[in-house]
Amino acid sequence: MVSRVIPVDPFDLVIFGGTGDLARRKILPALFRRFCAGQMGTDARVVGAARTEMDSAAYREFAREAITEFDDNEECAAESLDGFLEQLSYITLDARGDTGWQAMKAAMRDGPIQAFYFSVGPGLFGDLAERLHAYEIAGPDSRIVVEKPFGRDLASAQALNKGLAKHFDESQIYRIDHYLGKETVQNLMAIRFGNTLFEPLWNAQYVDHIQITVAESVGVGTRGGYYDKSGAMRDMMQNHLMQLLCLIAMEPPAKFDPAAVRDEKLKVIRALEPVDAEDVVRGQYEGTGELPGYRNQVENRDTRTESFVALKARIGNWRWAGTPFYIRTGKRLRARASEIAVVFKDAPHSIFGADAGRHRNILTIRLQPNEGIELGVTIKEPGPGGMRLVDVPLDMSFAEALGPDSADFPDAYERLIMDVVRGDQTLFMRGDEVEAAWAWVDPIIDAWQEVESDPILYASGSSGPDDALRLMHKDGRRWREIKP
Ligand code: NAD
Repeated sequence: MVSRVIPVDPFDLVIFGGTGDLARRKILPALFRRFCAGQMGTDARVVGAARTEMDSAAYREFAREAITEFDDNEECAAESLDGFLEQLSYITLDARGDTGWQAMKAAMRDGPIQAFYFSVGPGLFGDLAERLHAYEIAGPDSRIVVEKPFGRDLASAQALNKGLAKHFDESQIYRIDHYLGKETVQNLMAIRFGNTLFEPLWNAQYVDHIQITVAESVGVGTRGGYYDKSGAMRDMMQNHLMQLLCLIAMEPPAKFDPAAVRDEKLKVIRALEPVDAEDVVRGQYEGTGELPGYRNQVENRDTRTESFVALKARIGNWRWAGTPFYIRTGKRLRARASEIAVVFKDAPHSIFGADAGRHRNILTIRLQPNEGIELGVTIKEPGPGGMRLVDVPLDMSFAEALGPDSADFPDAYERLIMDVVRGDQTLFMRGDEVEAAWAWVDPIIDAWQEVESDPILYASGSSGPDDALRLMHKDGRRWREIKP
């Protein structure tokens, strides 16, 4: 089955911060892959804009190197790369000054869709918005794309929203959370709302609990400077994990459209109960063997920033009252593995007796690696010897059912950038959602600061601090194993 590619309309995409790490690793390779797939036409233009002094020829070389290094799609031929690069140009520009803005105005065409990707630190969002307006470059149909982190608390997120709202309507603002662009995350919505099978069971009556794990095996590496100001709570929980929680927990929207989906997500965040102190565990990894510990990878050797957080979230509404959501994320864990597991309750009565053991249905949505969805069902163990039960996976991996090409789907950045061009905000965060998420997270971080205690140390390559295990043990449950 070959996926259907519908070419998008002609567009001008400006990448502010076009020489930065994100542009190099994600944005340029993503655009190239969409070009190869035939979705980005030869009438589209990409303009890199940053402080770095260079001309368009040098920028094309920069893009060539980035794509050669970071694009792993071997089907994209070298001659396609030359074609793609012809559509790139560059403007040296200062977000805080006057340099480059007249040139940018002159570079924009009348007619094509206009999108401005703010791939710069959030400290520059307001300056860019201001100048796009002052130099009359952006109009009422232009779109802007902003990256995380969207603030570091509620007050700063509100200030960012206010700065953007001075010049752009909410319908023009695309706040990226690349988790929402993952194929499996969207498949989660298809499974929930495209089948009659699951939705009737999707509530506290049938679901015992839900686990969300985003585990990384790597440490902070060279990003210690940035990470130490943020930590797992701000860097992962407030955005990616909360977005996953929303999609799992939301009521069925009336339509798969931006307003309906985002309204439902917002209701979930607003229904979250405050988290009790004993229901949060924060950790920091220790060095093991040759691997340095967290404190040796950041400037402040006494830092209290967490590289791990686990918590129990409760949603106070009719659907979920009594069904906890256990959520954890961390670095330097046993494996790189992200999944959502919906653990259903035991059958109300076992006709097979105590010897048959305890069996539960678990729906696992695997985000990485090996994206896919699996439903654990209980069957009879084959062979003689009576009625012994065994749990087997009903595997819904795309490749097997839909053919090998189906596993060849666009990555998150490819999809999301094309959604910007198409004007579809469904998979982007709305301003009120982001603020509501901060409003829930802020008191947890504030409480840590008040008690002035250190995070719990955990060994690199482990499953996190033992206290995180106890978080579930005290409720008579346990985490699923973190495995690659
Ligand atoms: P970076 O430091 O590598 O690049 C910053 C870019 O901004 C450079 O092109 C630089 O020239 C430009 N710039 C800085 N000051 C400028 C000014 N005054 N005027 C014009 N241009 C200016 O940063 P990055 O890693 O590419 O990150 C960009 C944004 O994306 C940040 O908000 C970051 O948090 C976010 N982000 C990055 C990643 C990642 O993997 N790198 C992932 C998620 C989010």
